[in-house]
Amino acid sequence: MYVRGVGPRVAEMLAAKDIQTAEDLLYHLPFRYEDRQNPRSLDELQTGEMASVIAEVRGSILLRTRKAPIFELTVGQGRLALKCIWFNGSYLSGKFHAGQTVAVYGRVEPSRSSSNLKMIQPQFEVLPDASDDADTRLLEVGRITPVYESLGGARLASRWQRKTIFNLLEGVRGAVPECLPKELLARLDLPDRETALREVHYPPEGTPFAQLQAASTPAHRRLIFEELFFLELGLELKRRRVRKRTGIAFATSDKVREALREVLPFHPTVAQKRALGEIVTDMRKPSPMRRLLQGDVGSGKTIVAFQAMLVAMENGYQAALMAPTEILATQHFLAARKLLERSSRKPRIVLLTGSLDEDRKRQTRAQINCGEAQLVIGTHALIEEKVEFDRLGLVVVDEQHRFGVLQRFKLMKKPNQAEPDVLVMTATPIPRTLALSLYGDLDLSVLDELPPGRTPIVTRRVAGERAEEVWDFVRKQVAQGRQAYIVYPVIEGSKDDQPELDFSHDEPETAIEPPPKKPKTARKGKTADLFPKTAQEANPGAKSGLKSAVEMHEKLRSGPLSDLRVGLLHGRLDADEKEIIMRRFQRGEIDVLVATTVIEVGVDVPNATVMVVEHAERFGLAQLHQLRGRVGRGEAKSYCILMTGPRVSPLAEERLNAMVRTQDGFELAELDLTQRGPGEFFGTRQAGLPEFRVANLVRDRQLLEVAKIEAESFANNASAQVTEAERTRVWARLKDSWQRRYGLVEAG
Ligand code: ADP
Ligand code: MG
Repeated sequence: MYVRGVGPRVAEMLAAKDIQTAEDLLYHLPFRYEDRQNPRSLDELQTGEMASVIAEVRGSILLRTRKAPIFELTVGQGRLALKCIWFNGSYLSGKFHAGQTVAVYGRVEPSRSSSNLKMIQPQFEVLPDASDDADTRLLEVGRITPVYESLGGARLASRWQRKTIFNLLEGVRGAVPECLPKELLARLDLPDRETALREVHYPPEGTPFAQLQAASTPAHRRLIFEELFFLELGLELKRRRVRKRTGIAFATSDKVREALREVLPFHPTVAQKRALGEIVTDMRKPSPMRRLLQGDVGSGKTIVAFQAMLVAMENGYQAALMAPTEILATQHFLAARKLLERSSRKPRIVLLTGSLDEDRKRQTRAQINCGEAQLVIGTHALIEEKVEFDRLGLVVVDEQHRFGVLQRFKLMKKPNQAEPDVLVMTATPIPRTLALSLYGDLDLSVLDELPPGRTPIVTRRVAGERAEEVWDFVRKQVAQGRQAYIVYPVIEGSKDDQPELDFSHDEPETAIEPPPKKPKTARKGKTADLFPKTAQEANPGAKSGLKSAVEMHEKLRSGPLSDLRVGLLHGRLDADEKEIIMRRFQRGEIDVLVATTVIEVGVDVPNATVMVVEHAERFGLAQLHQLRGRVGRGEAKSYCILMTGPRVSPLAEERLNAMVRTQDGFELAELDLTQRGPGEFFGTRQAGLPEFRVANLVRDRQLLEVAKIEAESFANNASAQVTEAERTRVWARLKDSWQRRYGLVEAG
């Protein structure tokens, strides 16, 4: 379609921004608005606020300083003036003339030289005057004006977009096809597509400004809903497709039920029963299970997974459990042995990790291949060692392995065999609505209840100087027969690779084992000030002033904790050493375990009641929550002591306060999510999070929930009021948008 203002050259520039069609351009929404109906007066500005001001140019000057030229613009209203400053501002000289009207937008700062206010590097626009054409005046003066991210230099900045989009909207008046059913829009009270597009660019007079800035006008909501609806509809289709494939229909005879009862060491919680019920229902179906088991730290996911694996084994199939770390794999292995000892069948359990010697690996692979090994527990090695199973029935995977891995599990079964069931476990308490979207092609079971008898963990924040008191407290707890963890952000002060110090995401262990194929590159984006140092930057430890596990282990056991049995655990120990230390701690032969975040995930020693974290300000919220989750696992009262260094950033402050305030993993996850944004929270784009044009998963989660429900009901043909023509249009649009927008990872 021909769009005024878009010739071949511009089209090329737009294509570079992924804008290929007129529709793409219409969905390029303003990122903010300027209220030019009621401009702010200079005397009502407050320092610190973001404000948009319309004023007259008084004068400008280019100051040549030693460093960089500074461009200073003075604008005024009556007797009041505002100074605007741009560093390296030579490019601005000649741009402004006294008497012009300009709109500036920026943070209001106090000005040192006078009682006037100033703005540093504000966005600005010279407003049209009588010499400009009528269109421009119409679009930019005396109304709510949209402001756009530039689509290519100064040429395709806001002004160009305003005009082009305005013309485009005029050109398509009455001709924008609706892509959602009328009945649905009416029910949700959302405007039609054309109205929404028009009003989102050119808000009608009287639109509440706050609503515009929050992207919550009916027009915004309509477009956001539309995008989320098609996301959810696509996910729903994926789920349906999996349901059509051939899996294994496991039987749950009385014998199987009896086997499940045999191994239970305690009464399951209501949530555990419900989750197992949902899992087993899936397993009985002839299509492959794709289910996510989500539960906060300590909610008891392990036993549920073991029971599911038992169902597979009782049916004559093999089950595999893939853990994110060797420590955890080993722990699961030991726990499985203990648990399944109670079973009358005594299944054969093997452990396969990367650090086993070649002979052991070969032997284990052979046992798996001939079917002798019924339960296989391991790390990533399960995939890397090209294990071929005899009859794989169920795979339980930790979420960290989800991406790209599920596909490869198909390779682990022999050809012509049915697809194994897959259960993904996640310890991250992802807010439900987000789980629905990120793992939208999985069905969801939630453990929303902790096993009985847990007492809340007392969490305290303590300045580093009070360490002596902390060690006293640790000694007292040990004297009462308890155990403690003391966690440090780095392994050793002087080494140059410190995998554990990878604060930018929450699975530090993956950097340690299995041997990473590609070196992890530091992630771009806004992590810099949140998790201040990357591994490289924080070294050497001496310079950064960070205490390390190795050094503090030495200090503590020869100093304040010399009368206790102090152990050391970190990711650089080899697997045997790790296993020995873990076992000794589990058996109570070690009182205090000095460690890095290797213990973050899943380690389960109920007698440990104290978690001390040094440099707590350096850790992410999810990490702190996971670490705290290592205590409070038994009946005894537990403590989490967050020790901080001298400098704590405002964001770290917020994290620590949240830790002290609440133990609710979901609440902490929400804060984590707002601090880091979905990309970081889930660990990169590769997590399969689609790129949205309009929606924002954090901001729009309520609409996401609605979209999910509506997409399901649409796919089920639930409403008779939706016409055939409407259905056809929805499907056509889905195909189009799904292919273009969401390169979602296949769930296998
Ligand atoms: P997570 O969900 O973090 O993996 P675990 O499965 O490790 O949690 O369970 C945490 C602790 O709670 C373990 O010591 C486990 O034995 C215990 N546990 C789990 N379920 C129950 C239950 N229903 N009653 C009592 N203790 C339980
Ligand atoms: Mg666990």
